[in-house]
Amino acid sequence: MSAAIIDGKILAAQVKQEAAAAVRALQQWGKATPCLAVLLVGEDPASQVYVRGKESDCAACGIESRVCRLPETTTQAELLDRLAALAADPAVHGILVQLPLPRHIDPAAVIAAIPPEKDVDGFTPVNAGNLLTGGSCFVPCTPAGCLRMIRSTGLDLAGKQAVVVGRSNIVGKPAALLLLQQNATVTVCHSRTQGLAEICRRADVLVAAVGKAGFITGDMIKPGAVVIDVGINRGADGKLRGDVDFASAREVAGFITPVPGGVGLMTRAMLMWNTVLAAARQSGVDLGVSRKG
Ligand code: NDP
Repeated sequence: MSAAIIDGKILAAQVKQEAAAAVRALQQWGKATPCLAVLLVGEDPASQVYVRGKESDCAACGIESRVCRLPETTTQAELLDRLAALAADPAVHGILVQLPLPRHIDPAAVIAAIPPEKDVDGFTPVNAGNLLTGGSCFVPCTPAGCLRMIRSTGLDLAGKQAVVVGRSNIVGKPAALLLLQQNATVTVCHSRTQGLAEICRRADVLVAAVGKAGFITGDMIKPGAVVIDVGINRGADGKLRGDVDFASAREVAGFITPVPGGVGLMTRAMLMWNTVLAAARQSGVDLGVSRKG
């Protein structure tokens, strides 16, 4: 039997509609229109595309966007100065530094300079620590999108086996924490993991965030499992492929996300939600949710 597709287009549209409705509510209550500032350094073509996508998502949700495009030669000190100005600007509610940065700039130093209350990517040590300890935070957009996709299947995660392949700070680790918060039993795998296929086959929920096209094959999947493919890998033919071998996986899984049209769209939508949440919090408004999951 072929797996049901978890459609990122439909779910992302829902999240963006919710964000747009929250923007309208803030405006009706006399609060500021949410504003996202993006700092883009250099000419990386993929980053340019991502930033244009963010601008159009903001427009669709009624969020104001400001993009600071800086030359490749920008020094770390200059970037930190621009960041400090945005941090101090009360009209700016969310700040995002588009990664990767040029090699001469230390991303950790730049991210640490984003005020936690404007850190809509959820990458600062304060937000990462609050996610770990269960405090109020901004959840990184990709793992938040993954959780929303898993929930859309109706699966109750409590007591289920969840396996996350990949342990990056922006995807794997926060995804594992979110699944743990939902009372799943979580295993995190990485490049030193032994017996990966066997571990994956135990997973009721499998999240693949490896960065290797087609790495997870159908024989590594438990029949009926929910498979979330975070990977975005561009092949020599220019086509995007996920970390999951879609053709073999969909014959075994119960639910699966496609690439493209899956997690990537949810990441973008969750950024809109986090920006609205940031604006609400800075205006002293409780939107009634601490996290969008
Ligand atoms: P990283 O390169 O930071 O992390 C990759 C992880 O995969 C590492 O933890 C690494 O282990 C692990 N890994 C590598 N090889 C193996 C292996 N043979 N077996 C098991 N684990 C392995 O990548 P990211 O987390 O940033 O991104 C992962 C993928 O998701 C990429 O394709 C990226 O483009 C995509 N992505 C997609 C997003 C979206 O919106 N859809 C957003 C962000 C990323 P170790 O730690 O031991 O090195």
